[in-house]
Amino acid sequence: MKKSITPNQIKENNRNLIYQYIYLNQNVSQQDISYNLHLSRPTVTANLNALEEDGMIVKSGLIHTEYVGRKAAAYTIVSDFRVGIGVEILGNEIKILAADLYGREIKSCVHELAYKNDAAYFQNVCKEILAFRDSAMLCDEQILGVGFAIQGLISPDAQTVLYGKILACTGLSITAFSTYLPYPCAFIHDADSAATAELWISPDLKDAFYLSLGRHLGASLIADRKLITGDHGHSSTIEHIVMEPNGKLCYCGKRGCMETLCSIDALLEKSEDPDAFFGQVRSLEPAACTRWRSYLKHLARAINLLHLIYDKTFILGGYLAPYLNESDLTFLYEEIRQLTPFPESSDFLQISKMPKHMIPIGAALPFIQQFLML
Ligand SMILES: [Zn+2]
Repeated sequence: MKKSITPNQIKENNRNLIYQYIYLNQNVSQQDISYNLHLSRPTVTANLNALEEDGMIVKSGLIHTEYVGRKAAAYTIVSDFRVGIGVEILGNEIKILAADLYGREIKSCVHELAYKNDAAYFQNVCKEILAFRDSAMLCDEQILGVGFAIQGLISPDAQTVLYGKILACTGLSITAFSTYLPYPCAFIHDADSAATAELWISPDLKDAFYLSLGRHLGASLIADRKLITGDHGHSSTIEHIVMEPNGKLCYCGKRGCMETLCSIDALLEKSEDPDAFFGQVRSLEPAACTRWRSYLKHLARAINLLHLIYDKTFILGGYLAPYLNESDLTFLYEEIRQLTPFPESSDFLQISKMPKHMIPIGAALPFIQQFLML
Protein backbone atom coordinates (compact mmCIF):
# COMPACT_ATOMS: atom_id res chain seq x y z
CA MET A 1 0.00 0.00 0.00
CA LYS A 2 1.26 3.43 -0.85
CA LYS A 3 1.96 5.52 2.23
CA SER A 4 0.30 8.91 2.22
CA ILE A 5 2.54 11.94 2.65
CA THR A 6 1.88 14.01 5.74
CA PRO A 7 1.60 17.83 5.60
CA ASN A 8 4.80 18.01 7.65
CA GLN A 9 6.69 15.94 5.07
CA ILE A 10 5.43 18.22 2.28
CA LYS A 11 6.60 21.23 4.30
CA GLU A 12 10.01 19.67 4.90
CA ASN A 13 10.27 18.66 1.26
CA ASN A 14 9.46 22.18 0.03
CA ARG A 15 12.06 23.64 2.36
CA ASN A 16 14.71 21.21 1.05
CA LEU A 17 13.75 21.86 -2.57
CA ILE A 18 14.04 25.61 -2.09
CA TYR A 19 17.37 25.31 -0.26
CA GLN A 20 18.82 23.04 -2.95
CA TYR A 21 17.55 25.34 -5.70
CA ILE A 22 19.32 28.32 -4.13
CA TYR A 23 22.44 26.20 -3.55
CA LEU A 24 22.64 25.05 -7.17
CA ASN A 25 21.63 28.27 -8.91
CA GLN A 26 23.07 30.91 -6.54
CA ASN A 27 21.76 34.48 -6.51
CA VAL A 28 18.13 33.73 -7.20
CA SER A 29 15.01 35.75 -6.53
CA GLN A 30 11.84 34.65 -4.83
CA GLN A 31 10.08 34.91 -8.19
CA ASP A 32 12.63 32.58 -9.90
CA ILE A 33 12.16 29.98 -7.17
CA SER A 34 8.37 30.19 -7.27
CA TYR A 35 8.26 29.91 -11.07
CA ASN A 36 10.84 27.15 -11.50
CA LEU A 37 9.73 24.96 -8.58
CA HIS A 38 6.01 25.51 -9.24
CA LEU A 39 5.44 26.64 -5.68
CA SER A 40 3.07 29.40 -4.60
CA ARG A 41 4.54 32.78 -3.66
CA PRO A 42 3.33 32.57 -0.02
CA THR A 43 4.95 29.11 0.35
CA VAL A 44 8.25 30.40 -1.02
CA THR A 45 8.14 33.57 1.11
CA ALA A 46 7.46 31.60 4.30
CA ASN A 47 10.31 29.20 3.58
CA LEU A 48 12.77 31.95 2.64
CA ASN A 49 11.98 33.76 5.89
CA ALA A 50 12.49 30.57 7.90
CA LEU A 51 15.76 29.64 6.12
CA GLU A 52 17.04 33.19 6.61
CA GLU A 53 16.11 33.13 10.28
CA ASP A 54 17.97 29.82 10.70
CA GLY A 55 21.09 31.38 9.17
CA MET A 56 21.11 29.07 6.15
CA ILE A 57 20.58 31.72 3.47
CA VAL A 58 21.17 35.47 3.11
CA LYS A 59 20.04 38.26 0.85
CA SER A 60 22.90 39.07 -1.50
CA GLY A 61 21.82 42.26 -3.26
CA LEU A 62 19.34 42.90 -6.04
CA ILE A 63 18.94 41.14 -9.39
CA HIS A 64 16.87 41.54 -12.50
CA THR A 65 14.12 39.04 -12.85
CA GLU A 66 11.95 38.53 -15.89
CA TYR A 67 8.86 37.88 -13.78
CA VAL A 68 8.56 41.37 -12.30
CA GLY A 69 9.33 44.73 -13.82
CA ARG A 70 11.74 45.84 -11.08
CA LYS A 71 14.82 44.45 -9.40
CA ALA A 72 14.20 41.81 -6.77
CA ALA A 73 16.18 40.64 -3.73
CA ALA A 74 18.63 37.85 -4.55
CA TYR A 75 19.28 34.94 -2.15
CA THR A 76 22.37 32.81 -1.73
CA ILE A 77 23.15 30.09 0.77
CA VAL A 78 25.53 30.79 3.66
CA SER A 79 28.38 28.66 2.37
CA ASP A 80 29.96 28.04 5.79
CA PHE A 81 26.69 27.42 7.61
CA ARG A 82 28.06 23.88 7.88
CA VAL A 83 31.55 22.61 7.02
CA GLY A 84 33.26 19.28 6.55
CA ILE A 85 36.75 18.51 7.84
CA GLY A 86 39.13 16.23 5.95
CA VAL A 87 42.30 14.81 7.51
CA GLU A 88 44.90 13.01 5.42
CA ILE A 89 46.92 10.61 7.54
CA LEU A 90 50.41 10.03 6.19
CA GLY A 91 53.48 8.29 7.59
CA ASN A 92 55.22 11.49 8.68
CA GLU A 93 52.56 14.18 8.66
CA ILE A 94 48.87 14.98 8.78
CA LYS A 95 47.01 17.45 6.58
CA ILE A 96 43.86 19.05 7.93
CA LEU A 97 41.40 20.99 5.78
CA ALA A 98 38.00 22.57 6.33
CA ALA A 99 35.71 22.73 3.29
CA ASP A 100 32.56 24.82 2.94
CA LEU A 101 29.28 23.61 1.46
CA TYR A 102 30.64 24.19 -2.05
CA GLY A 103 33.64 21.98 -1.27
CA ARG A 104 35.96 25.00 -1.26
CA GLU A 105 38.90 25.18 1.10
CA ILE A 106 38.27 27.48 4.05
CA LYS A 107 41.59 26.78 5.71
CA SER A 108 44.19 24.03 5.72
CA CYS A 109 47.36 23.14 7.56
CA VAL A 110 50.07 20.47 7.70
CA HIS A 111 51.64 19.07 10.89
CA GLU A 112 54.65 16.86 11.15
CA LEU A 113 53.45 13.91 13.16
CA ALA A 114 54.89 10.43 12.63
CA TYR A 115 52.19 7.76 12.51
CA LYS A 116 52.10 5.42 15.48
CA ASN A 117 49.48 2.85 16.24
CA ASP A 118 48.95 4.04 19.81
CA ALA A 119 46.56 6.15 21.86
CA ALA A 120 49.02 9.04 22.28
CA TYR A 121 49.22 9.48 18.50
CA PHE A 122 45.43 9.38 18.00
CA GLN A 123 45.00 11.86 20.84
CA ASN A 124 47.63 14.17 19.32
CA VAL A 125 45.93 14.10 15.91
CA CYS A 126 42.62 15.03 17.55
CA LYS A 127 44.29 17.82 19.56
CA GLU A 128 45.58 19.26 16.27
CA ILE A 129 42.09 19.02 14.75
CA LEU A 130 40.57 20.90 17.70
CA ALA A 131 43.32 23.55 17.58
CA PHE A 132 42.66 23.86 13.83
CA ARG A 133 38.94 24.32 14.52
CA ASP A 134 39.80 27.22 16.84
CA SER A 135 42.26 28.85 14.45
CA ALA A 136 39.69 28.59 11.63
CA MET A 137 37.14 30.14 14.01
CA LEU A 138 34.69 27.31 13.52
CA CYS A 139 32.21 26.26 16.17
CA ASP A 140 31.24 22.68 16.99
CA GLU A 141 27.73 23.16 15.64
CA GLN A 142 29.14 24.04 12.20
CA ILE A 143 31.17 20.86 11.83
CA LEU A 144 29.30 18.08 10.03
CA GLY A 145 32.00 15.49 10.55
CA VAL A 146 35.65 14.54 10.13
CA GLY A 147 36.79 12.25 7.32
CA PHE A 148 40.13 10.48 7.79
CA ALA A 149 41.80 9.58 4.49
CA ILE A 150 43.98 6.52 4.95
CA GLN A 151 46.39 4.70 2.66
CA GLY A 152 44.47 1.49 3.04
CA LEU A 153 41.26 -0.38 2.32
CA ILE A 154 38.24 0.58 4.38
CA SER A 155 35.15 -1.40 5.43
CA PRO A 156 31.88 -0.47 3.65
CA ASP A 157 30.59 1.22 6.84
CA ALA A 158 33.72 3.46 6.90
CA GLN A 159 34.49 2.39 10.48
CA THR A 160 37.45 0.00 10.13
CA VAL A 161 40.70 -0.28 8.18
CA LEU A 162 40.52 -3.66 6.42
CA TYR A 163 44.03 -3.58 4.98
CA GLY A 164 46.57 -0.99 6.04
CA LYS A 165 50.05 -2.35 5.46
CA ILE A 166 51.62 1.02 4.59
CA LEU A 167 50.94 2.39 8.07
CA ALA A 168 50.66 -1.05 9.71
CA CYS A 169 47.14 -0.14 10.84
CA THR A 170 45.09 -3.12 9.67
CA GLY A 171 42.07 -3.54 11.95
CA LEU A 172 42.16 0.07 13.22
CA SER A 173 38.73 1.26 14.35
CA ILE A 174 37.47 4.80 13.86
CA THR A 175 36.82 4.92 17.61
CA ALA A 176 40.60 5.43 17.99
CA PHE A 177 39.87 9.00 16.79
CA SER A 178 36.17 9.52 17.48
CA THR A 179 36.72 8.97 21.23
CA TYR A 180 38.46 12.36 21.33
CA LEU A 181 36.18 14.30 18.97
CA PRO A 182 32.59 15.53 19.41
CA TYR A 183 31.76 14.94 15.70
CA PRO A 184 30.80 12.01 13.48
CA CYS A 185 33.99 10.44 12.11
CA ALA A 186 34.63 8.14 9.16
CA PHE A 187 37.54 6.56 7.29
CA ILE A 188 37.95 6.84 3.54
CA HIS A 189 40.51 5.18 1.27
CA ASP A 190 42.80 7.97 0.05
CA ALA A 191 42.40 7.10 -3.65
CA ASP A 192 38.60 7.12 -3.20
CA SER A 193 38.93 10.52 -1.52
CA ALA A 194 40.77 11.91 -4.54
CA ALA A 195 38.23 10.36 -6.93
CA THR A 196 35.36 11.82 -4.87
CA ALA A 197 36.92 15.29 -5.21
CA GLU A 198 37.36 14.78 -8.97
CA LEU A 199 33.68 13.80 -9.34
CA TRP A 200 32.65 16.82 -7.30
CA ILE A 201 34.28 19.29 -9.69
CA SER A 202 33.40 17.33 -12.84
CA PRO A 203 29.58 17.18 -13.00
CA ASP A 204 29.74 15.63 -16.49
CA LEU A 205 32.07 12.81 -15.53
CA LYS A 206 30.17 9.53 -15.62
CA ASP A 207 32.57 6.59 -15.93
CA ALA A 208 36.32 6.74 -15.40
CA PHE A 209 39.36 5.10 -13.96
CA TYR A 210 41.10 7.40 -11.50
CA LEU A 211 44.80 6.77 -11.00
CA SER A 212 46.16 8.35 -7.84
CA LEU A 213 49.85 8.88 -8.53
CA GLY A 214 51.00 9.63 -5.02
CA ARG A 215 53.95 8.55 -2.88
CA HIS A 216 52.06 5.28 -3.09
CA LEU A 217 49.95 4.21 -6.04
CA GLY A 218 46.19 3.95 -5.70
CA ALA A 219 43.18 3.82 -7.97
CA SER A 220 39.44 4.14 -7.97
CA LEU A 221 36.95 2.79 -10.44
CA ILE A 222 34.06 5.11 -11.21
CA ALA A 223 30.91 3.77 -12.87
CA ASP A 224 27.82 5.91 -13.27
CA ARG A 225 29.37 8.47 -10.87
CA LYS A 226 29.75 5.88 -8.11
CA LEU A 227 32.95 4.41 -6.71
CA ILE A 228 32.97 0.66 -7.18
CA THR A 229 34.63 -1.02 -4.22
CA GLY A 230 33.60 -4.63 -4.92
CA ASP A 231 32.35 -7.53 -2.82
CA HIS A 232 35.42 -7.59 -0.59
CA GLY A 233 36.43 -3.93 -0.76
CA HIS A 234 39.42 -4.44 -3.03
CA SER A 235 38.22 -3.53 -6.51
CA SER A 236 40.83 -1.49 -8.37
CA THR A 237 43.69 -2.29 -5.98
CA ILE A 238 45.75 -2.28 -9.14
CA GLU A 239 48.88 -1.27 -7.23
CA HIS A 240 49.44 -4.97 -6.44
CA ILE A 241 49.16 -6.29 -9.99
CA VAL A 242 52.52 -7.95 -10.56
CA MET A 243 54.31 -6.42 -13.56
CA GLU A 244 57.79 -7.86 -12.99
CA PRO A 245 57.88 -11.13 -11.01
CA ASN A 246 61.52 -10.65 -10.05
CA GLY A 247 61.25 -6.93 -9.55
CA LYS A 248 61.58 -4.74 -6.46
CA LEU A 249 59.96 -5.81 -3.21
CA CYS A 250 56.54 -4.22 -2.60
CA TYR A 251 55.23 -3.40 0.87
CA CYS A 252 52.62 -6.17 0.36
CA GLY A 253 55.41 -8.76 0.40
CA LYS A 254 55.30 -9.61 -3.33
CA ARG A 255 57.81 -8.50 -5.94
CA GLY A 256 57.41 -6.20 -8.94
CA CYS A 257 53.91 -4.88 -8.18
CA MET A 258 52.68 -1.84 -10.14
CA GLU A 259 53.37 0.09 -6.90
CA THR A 260 57.10 -0.53 -7.33
CA LEU A 261 57.07 0.97 -10.84
CA CYS A 262 54.37 3.66 -10.96
CA SER A 263 54.24 5.31 -7.52
CA ILE A 264 56.12 8.54 -6.80
CA ASP A 265 58.34 6.45 -4.50
CA ALA A 266 59.38 4.49 -7.59
CA LEU A 267 60.36 7.72 -9.34
CA LEU A 268 61.93 9.84 -6.60
CA GLU A 269 64.20 9.19 -3.67
CA LYS A 270 62.55 9.67 -0.27
CA SER A 271 64.32 12.99 0.30
CA GLU A 272 64.06 14.21 -3.30
CA ASP A 273 61.97 17.32 -3.91
CA PRO A 274 59.51 16.88 -6.81
CA ASP A 275 59.76 20.61 -7.68
CA ALA A 276 63.52 20.27 -8.13
CA PHE A 277 63.21 17.02 -10.12
CA PHE A 278 60.62 18.42 -12.55
CA GLY A 279 62.65 21.62 -12.83
CA GLN A 280 65.45 19.43 -14.20
CA VAL A 281 63.08 17.47 -16.46
CA ARG A 282 61.57 20.61 -18.00
CA SER A 283 64.99 22.15 -18.54
CA LEU A 284 65.95 18.92 -20.35
CA GLU A 285 68.66 17.80 -17.96
CA PRO A 286 69.61 14.39 -19.50
CA ALA A 287 69.72 12.18 -16.36
CA ALA A 288 66.35 13.48 -15.07
CA CYS A 289 64.78 13.10 -18.54
CA THR A 290 65.94 9.47 -18.78
CA ARG A 291 64.49 8.70 -15.37
CA TRP A 292 61.19 10.44 -16.22
CA ARG A 293 60.84 8.65 -19.56
CA SER A 294 61.52 5.31 -17.92
CA TYR A 295 58.77 6.06 -15.36
CA LEU A 296 56.34 7.09 -18.12
CA LYS A 297 57.05 3.87 -20.02
CA HIS A 298 56.08 1.84 -16.96
CA LEU A 299 53.00 4.02 -16.50
CA ALA A 300 52.04 3.46 -20.16
CA ARG A 301 52.29 -0.33 -19.65
CA ALA A 302 50.08 -0.08 -16.58
CA ILE A 303 47.51 2.16 -18.27
CA ASN A 304 47.37 -0.07 -21.35
CA LEU A 305 46.75 -3.13 -19.23
CA LEU A 306 43.96 -1.42 -17.30
CA HIS A 307 42.47 0.24 -20.38
CA LEU A 308 42.11 -3.18 -22.03
CA ILE A 309 39.84 -4.07 -19.10
CA TYR A 310 38.02 -0.76 -18.67
CA ASP A 311 37.67 1.24 -21.87
CA LYS A 312 36.81 4.57 -20.28
CA THR A 313 38.43 7.92 -19.47
CA PHE A 314 41.63 7.59 -17.43
CA ILE A 315 42.28 10.42 -15.01
CA LEU A 316 45.87 10.92 -13.97
CA GLY A 317 45.53 12.36 -10.48
CA GLY A 318 47.28 12.38 -7.14
CA TYR A 319 50.26 14.48 -6.13
CA LEU A 320 52.04 13.92 -9.46
CA ALA A 321 49.17 15.51 -11.43
CA PRO A 322 50.29 19.15 -11.12
CA TYR A 323 53.63 18.23 -12.72
CA LEU A 324 52.16 16.51 -15.79
CA ASN A 325 51.82 18.34 -19.09
CA GLU A 326 50.56 17.75 -22.63
CA SER A 327 53.93 16.48 -23.87
CA ASP A 328 53.81 13.74 -21.21
CA LEU A 329 50.35 12.71 -22.44
CA THR A 330 51.63 12.60 -26.04
CA PHE A 331 54.53 10.39 -24.89
CA LEU A 332 52.12 8.08 -23.03
CA TYR A 333 49.82 7.78 -26.06
CA GLU A 334 52.77 6.88 -28.30
CA GLU A 335 53.94 4.21 -25.86
CA ILE A 336 50.44 2.80 -25.43
CA ARG A 337 49.97 2.68 -29.21
CA GLN A 338 52.96 0.37 -29.49
CA LEU A 339 51.59 -1.94 -26.80
CA THR A 340 47.94 -2.25 -27.68
CA PRO A 341 46.40 -4.41 -30.40
CA PHE A 342 43.74 -1.84 -31.30
CA PRO A 343 44.08 1.48 -33.08
CA GLU A 344 44.17 3.57 -29.91
CA SER A 345 42.57 7.01 -29.88
CA SER A 346 44.25 9.95 -28.17
CA ASP A 347 41.34 11.14 -26.14
CA PHE A 348 41.06 8.95 -23.06
CA LEU A 349 43.81 10.36 -20.85
CA GLN A 350 43.07 13.38 -18.70
CA ILE A 351 45.10 15.21 -16.10
CA SER A 352 43.13 15.73 -12.87
CA LYS A 353 41.13 18.94 -12.66
CA MET A 354 41.78 19.16 -8.93
CA PRO A 355 45.53 19.04 -8.49
CA LYS A 356 45.61 20.51 -4.98
CA HIS A 357 44.26 19.17 -1.67
CA MET A 358 42.24 16.53 -3.52
CA ILE A 359 42.61 13.98 -0.73
CA PRO A 360 41.57 16.04 2.35
CA ILE A 361 38.78 17.79 0.36
CA GLY A 362 37.52 14.41 -0.84
CA ALA A 363 37.55 13.13 2.76
CA ALA A 364 35.36 16.06 3.86
CA LEU A 365 32.90 15.82 0.96
CA PRO A 366 30.77 12.81 2.01
CA PHE A 367 29.55 14.78 5.05
CA ILE A 368 28.69 17.76 2.85
CA GLN A 369 26.89 15.58 0.30
CA GLN A 370 24.88 13.99 3.07
CA PHE A 371 23.90 17.39 4.47
CA LEU A 372 22.87 18.74 1.07
CA MET A 373 21.14 15.47 0.17
CA LEU A 374 22.60 15.79 -3.32
ZN1 LIG B 1 52.24 -5.24 -3.82
